[in-house]
Amino acid sequence: MKYDVVIVGAGIAGLTAAIYARRAEKSVLVLEGKVPGGQIINTLTIENWPGDMGVSGVELMQKIQKQAMELGAEIEMEEVEGIQKVDDGFVVKTEDGEYEARAIILAVGVEDKKLDLAREDELTGKGVSYCATCDGAFYKDKPVVVIGGGNTALYDALYLSDIVSKVYLVHRRNEFRGDKALVNKLRQRENVEFVTPFVPEELLGEDKITGIKVKMVDSDKVRAGDKYRFLEADGVFVAIGKKPQTAMFAELMELDDKGYIVAGEDCKTSCPGVFVAGDCRTKSVRQLVTAAGDGAVAAEAVINYLD
Ligand code: NAP
Repeated sequence: MKYDVVIVGAGIAGLTAAIYARRAEKSVLVLEGKVPGGQIINTLTIENWPGDMGVSGVELMQKIQKQAMELGAEIEMEEVEGIQKVDDGFVVKTEDGEYEARAIILAVGVEDKKLDLAREDELTGKGVSYCATCDGAFYKDKPVVVIGGGNTALYDALYLSDIVSKVYLVHRRNEFRGDKALVNKLRQRENVEFVTPFVPEELLGEDKITGIKVKMVDSDKVRAGDKYRFLEADGVFVAIGKKPQTAMFAELMELDDKGYIVAGEDCKTSCPGVFVAGDCRTKSVRQLVTAAGDGAVAAEAVINYLD
């Protein structure tokens, strides 16, 4: 069978696109290599999804997935390994086989950036974590470090401060990229210490994390004794942003220098028949609502392209 559209990625952008494409009676296959729901399933409480204050990421995405499936979208848990352009459409290669499609929507999202410190991979799962809601419970009544200054780090620090004995929030600037309201909430927490402007220098511990050495930014301007801090902690939560998972599409379409798929608000890529939605596209605001908006726009673009 040849699908009208194969959507790669079952996060908010991909599933919203599936809903819109099905309502236009296009045949839709959504392929997802990890867990459906995308990165928001790691957020415990969402405060900026209109109409549902405090909904959890898992709950919201389960509802949206159910809606897409009830409308007739097929969802398969298969990792996409490549997309090939053929005369009358595309062939999508996965770990398990191949699917034919007349059009494609890429909604592949982004993955966690790493600190690029020595032994980071080795200590992942032994104190280093990229997901506070997944791993926070392991650190009950223990001290932890959260690294980053965006909304992910701020939400992580808030969430962890309810569980752990102490949160060191390490950020490379005194100002935060994330929402002021979250920073203010954190400043009121007695067990949260702001460690700014500092950057991680070394992960400490042999078989598991015992702490982290951090270095003051512009440390040449401070007294020798103030250059470094050694923060004792059982866990180090890394939340320094994301990068797109798009390398396999580089031959088919234009990517920017950071790997984001180049497209405007019309969600059209440089490859006719391939559209892009959500965080993996060049855009200025990467939020749940803008990813959902992209899903609708990309689906409408596919409908016009097919008709
Ligand atoms: P982000 O907004 O890109 O923030 C990354 C943070 O890490 C920045 O503060 C950055 O510092 C810092 N950083 C980057 N590289 C670093 C390095 N090598 N060493 C030390 N620090 C480094 O990423 P994010 O927090 O993951 O958020 C991604 C997007 O998702 C954002 O648009 C965010 O608003 C959104 N989000 C939304 C929600 C929600 O609405 N519920 C929840 C989570 C995330 P600088 O600030 O100095 O660059």
